Amino acid sequence: MTNGVRLRKTLEGVPAYKPGRPAAPTEGLTAYKLSSNENPYPPLPSVVQVVADAAASMNRYPDMAVTRLTEALAERWDVPTTHIATGTGSVGVLTQLINITCEPGDEVVYAWRSFEAYPIVVALAGATSVQVPVTDTAEHDLPAMAAAVTDRTRLVLVCTPNNPTGPHVTDAALREFLGSVPSDVLVVVDEAYLEFNTAEDAPDALAIYREFPNVAVLRTFSKAYGLAGLRVGYCIAHEDVATALRKAATPFGVSDLAERAAVASLAAYDELEVRVKALIDERERVLSGLREQGWAVPDTQANFVWLPLGEDTVDFAAACQEQGLTVRPFPGDGVRCTIGETEANDRLLEVAAAFRHR
Ligand SMILES: *Cc1c(COP(=O)(O)O)cnc(C)c1O
Repeated sequence: MTNGVRLRKTLEGVPAYKPGRPAAPTEGLTAYKLSSNENPYPPLPSVVQVVADAAASMNRYPDMAVTRLTEALAERWDVPTTHIATGTGSVGVLTQLINITCEPGDEVVYAWRSFEAYPIVVALAGATSVQVPVTDTAEHDLPAMAAAVTDRTRLVLVCTPNNPTGPHVTDAALREFLGSVPSDVLVVVDEAYLEFNTAEDAPDALAIYREFPNVAVLRTFSKAYGLAGLRVGYCIAHEDVATALRKAATPFGVSDLAERAAVASLAAYDELEVRVKALIDERERVLSGLREQGWAVPDTQANFVWLPLGEDTVDFAAACQEQGLTVRPFPGDGVRCTIGETEANDRLLEVAAAFRHR
């Protein structure tokens, strides 16, 4: 179907984002959504209250400069306010990052498989994705990524812990990598799952950004903070990059509700952290349970586990669905299962055990 309107050729190469499917009702079973790496806990009552109060003024535009959140983040992370840029989720900020670095044909290097938004935002900008396969332990192959940098490279995305495979990049490996990347190439450390990373050798991305002016740190309120539905994320970067990011933002993209909820959530992080810790305990329980069953599950420092099922991917997702669990299949590759409610995690272990003996 065409009405003759000329659209950009680049759109033909843009893959569609496949969101995690919602929980599907299954007779006699509570259905659980383990397909989008969301926080299974409902928002804190104090945060709900702040949002409810703010709803009364939604006839007004929000503060375009997102001043209160920017100030709260600057204080929380001890960085200048001029080094912060916010956006409509960190995917929104990611789009800004591409838009400020890439002309059509410029290259963006990242691991694959990694976050499925990466190829979409790169292609939409008319830039070229350079995907460097993860190792057989599902980790970033940083030496290969360094070797993939050319004089067309404008941006490198390092996702740690990596969605959907789980492993993190170590501080030492990241530093060594940065030593071999030209200083005019922006390296973004996507830390969407930062709060779940308990590895002792996890990168101190803020220390690294302080040392390397070409490093930016991307973070979100969607996962540990439980605000996925409100769409707010941010980047910490040196002033020229952060200023450009603010220029490239969708005007008024961060709503007043989102801003207030994010500020309240930063203030209530002690309370949220109790939940994050419980999810980490559940992750360890699921990970060791799966390994005891004989599954070759890579390490995970996030709120999900990766089952490298290859050709069995779709069958496993169907077996989960029969038991009321919606997981995230990547056909031909593997299944990502979010750590959810305890009952959902128990059931996942049961389905996985039965699948091995099928
Ligand atoms: C979930 C996720 C994000 C966050 O997306 P938002 O737009 O902030 O909801 C960013 N990066 C990765 C790797 C993710 O998995």
